[in-house]
Amino acid sequence: MPPSPAPVISIRDLRKSYGETEAVRGIELEVMPGEVFAFLGPNGAGKTTTVEILEGYRKRSGGEVSVLGEDPERAGREWRERIGIVLQSGRLDPYLTVRESLDLYAGYFRSPRPTEEVIALVGLEGKADERARRLSGGQQRRLDVGMALIGDPELLFLDEPTTGFDPSARRQAWDVIAGLRDLGKTVFLTTHYMDEAQRLADRVTIIAAGQIVARGTPEDLGDRESQPTTIRYRADGEEVVVETTTPVRTLNELTGAALAKGEELEALEVTRPSLEDVYLELTES
Ligand code: ATP
Repeated sequence: MPPSPAPVISIRDLRKSYGETEAVRGIELEVMPGEVFAFLGPNGAGKTTTVEILEGYRKRSGGEVSVLGEDPERAGREWRERIGIVLQSGRLDPYLTVRESLDLYAGYFRSPRPTEEVIALVGLEGKADERARRLSGGQQRRLDVGMALIGDPELLFLDEPTTGFDPSARRQAWDVIAGLRDLGKTVFLTTHYMDEAQRLADRVTIIAAGQIVARGTPEDLGDRESQPTTIRYRADGEEVVVETTTPVRTLNELTGAALAKGEELEALEVTRPSLEDVYLELTES
């Protein structure tokens, strides 16, 4: 068997306190090459703190962190060129055009991706000569992604890349992110949107109050055995709710009993928890 590849990101017992506040309380995670990894959590959960530690912008209080084989606190310029960062608020010069912005930024890197290729990757071909201030919010965000891609990084951090987007801009952004996977990039995505994680991520990790409360593929998390299926029906005018982890057997028993008595299970409804339900349950404070 070939040796398994080294993780792009590896975190062991990461801790970060701000005075009395323990923002991150001993988390562990690994991100493998070429995967889209979604880091989910409610406001104040510790996402930004963790991401900024990974990016080398914040010092940790304890634990071990390796990003592309180096400790971000000590890594230098060469390492920084291997990562791309898309922040929540962009860094665009409003008076430069799309092409000028990318060309300018390309100058900071030793082996940038060709500007025209990046413009195509983020779907801004028709807007290459438009000034940033005349782009729509969604187009500006795509240019932000383009700026992060111009240095041809191996690893991209996308911080809430579609917050505030209309549904069609979100779809377009999702296409761009899916395209990054096709290029073999590793993507660390923070988001508040379950559907986004479900759609894009290979693996999801949920953080709440500084601790990891769940991890797995989007399918695993939505289908966890500990999350019962809910069966509802009406009997004698009253709603009956049955929670079960063996829904096929329970349904068989219920319907079998009803058939034997020649009765109907009125308003029968079977629901499985979605990733959103799991998320809400896990992060309720
Ligand atoms: P959001 O979704 O709102 O961006 P988050 O998950 O990114 O939230 P963090 O910004 O990492 O959360 O914050 C985690 C906790 O640490 C919060 O309680 C926050 O108030 C606290 N915190 C973050 N930055 C600082 C700081 N510079 N000084 C003191 N406390 C901080």
